Amino acid sequence: MKHEAPPSSAIPSAHGFSPGFAALGLEARLLATLDQLGYEEPTPIQREAIPPLLAGKDVLGQAATGTGKTAAFTLPLLQRLAQGANARPAALILVPTRELAVQVGEAVQRYGKELRTSVVTIYGGQAFGPQFQALKRGVDVVVATPGRALDHIRRQTLKLAQVRVVVLDEADEMLDMGFADDLDAILEQTPATKQTALFSATMPPRIKSIAHRHLTHPVEISIAKEPVKAGTAPRVQQTAYVVAKPYRGAALARVLDMAGPKSALVFCRTRVEVDEVTVMLNGRGHRAEAIHGGMSQPQRDRVMQAFRTGQTELLVATDVAARGLDIPSVSHVINFDLPSSAEVYVHRIGRTGRAGREGAAITILDPREERLLRSIEQITKAKVTVAPVPSVADLLAKRLERTRAAVQEAMQADDIGEFRGVAEALAASSDPFTLAAAAMKLVFQSQGGDRVEEDIPAVPVRRPEPYRSMQRPGGRAGDRDRGAPSRPGNRPSQGRPGRVGPMAGMTRIYIGAGWSAGITPGDLVGAIANEARINSKALGGIEILDRFSLVEVPDAMASKIIDVLGRARIKGQKVVVRLFRE
Ligand code: AMP
Repeated sequence: MKHEAPPSSAIPSAHGFSPGFAALGLEARLLATLDQLGYEEPTPIQREAIPPLLAGKDVLGQAATGTGKTAAFTLPLLQRLAQGANARPAALILVPTRELAVQVGEAVQRYGKELRTSVVTIYGGQAFGPQFQALKRGVDVVVATPGRALDHIRRQTLKLAQVRVVVLDEADEMLDMGFADDLDAILEQTPATKQTALFSATMPPRIKSIAHRHLTHPVEISIAKEPVKAGTAPRVQQTAYVVAKPYRGAALARVLDMAGPKSALVFCRTRVEVDEVTVMLNGRGHRAEAIHGGMSQPQRDRVMQAFRTGQTELLVATDVAARGLDIPSVSHVINFDLPSSAEVYVHRIGRTGRAGREGAAITILDPREERLLRSIEQITKAKVTVAPVPSVADLLAKRLERTRAAVQEAMQADDIGEFRGVAEALAASSDPFTLAAAAMKLVFQSQGGDRVEEDIPAVPVRRPEPYRSMQRPGGRAGDRDRGAPSRPGNRPSQGRPGRVGPMAGMTRIYIGAGWSAGITPGDLVGAIANEARINSKALGGIEILDRFSLVEVPDAMASKIIDVLGRARIKGQKVVVRLFRE
């Protein structure tokens, strides 16, 4: 048996924290926070971006959501602010959408817990009052959408003359949303001496141009774009199920119940997640064991032994823990999180489908990480099928099928003689089909078939970039963020359908035709403006998905629009129009 030494990067350093992060130059309080969060090693973008950012250099980074880019710019930002006195605010992070503003604000708070860094998140559609109060009290870090940041600058409630660090996150999205002028106007208010980091999933010329205007000798970072060597990516069936964050655990359990693997590896990003997922799976009747860098060698040996002998069917692991292990080929690799790079993805799925055996790789995908998945597909030259999570009905059908198969197998065995007499006796006084159905029901129940399942809301599966290739409807995207909440302009789709509710005062309507019917935003805006005689400027976000579209309309106009559109034709077709329920 191969000796299972823990991989070197999993061995805690003298102070007990991840040597990977310590080597990047992060200070002890941040290392302690990362340790509490269960991060075992830096992601590629973190490894590349943290040292130059800590050194005060400007950085131009290409990275999608899911690569760990938020920590890549936030950790050095926090450390630099903690060194020396600052005027407030000392840092400004600009992001394209309110959802991202909230997420980044939470991340700053989480990573800055030990440093007691204060943060405020400001975005359009939110009341000004609390934002004024927070800015007036003084905060270290402001996370803002550009339109609302500019509003505050004009009202002189946000003063940037002393900021030391500015981050432009998802810069390509900000430009797509029409924020280019706003960004220039905001950056003009900041001192020339500040440090600037710009992160973007793509690097088209207009991003280069904004970087050229606002960054000084930036260190350029782009992770792993080289295709993996031909033949290194295993040929296994790969599927990703898109699911909103609150349902990730339920989706994992559903996928495992559907697959019924004999032996599977479930990968998580952090130690904390590994422990949580293991507890959850055991609670649902799976035999799961955790393995991560925080465990002692004897503990790890025991877990591996149980997995090899089949006592444990699911091994829940971090990448670091799995790296040094001699794990037998498994039938399924499940990514509870999409890994932060293509290399790690290839490494994970290489645990299945070995030596010509069948294997499957399944990913539980956050809707925001579709872009990262697509880049992994490109790099690995593999097709990953993206699908909604199987429904409760799918699962019930699967369980019934398992019961049928189990009964059929038992019928072919020659050891049912003693039950034959019982069956014959029962059949003498009752209908044989009723008898068989009752027996099947008992088998079904003993297999856990009657366990109650929760509904997991479907997140519509997005085609790659359905909206961007189309013309944007009238009105500037940025208006939505800038103006008063009661009068939004058209807001382009964030491509993250179903993730957030509509803006305050707005309702989403469902229109039963989408991308596959050739529907464009112009068609929808035109139909609503012409048929319902409503000014197109009153409309909010528009999302065009494969088979339907969602349009945000003012609450007060929703029923009129539904009524009129329901009777009209869109692109010559009659379509279903109704209120959208998440
Ligand atoms: P982001 O790309 O910034 O949206 O981050 C994606 C996810 O990865 C977030 O849930 C982070 O908490 C998580 N994450 C970031 N860095 C690490 C790391 N080094 N190890 C484990 N998880 C991480």
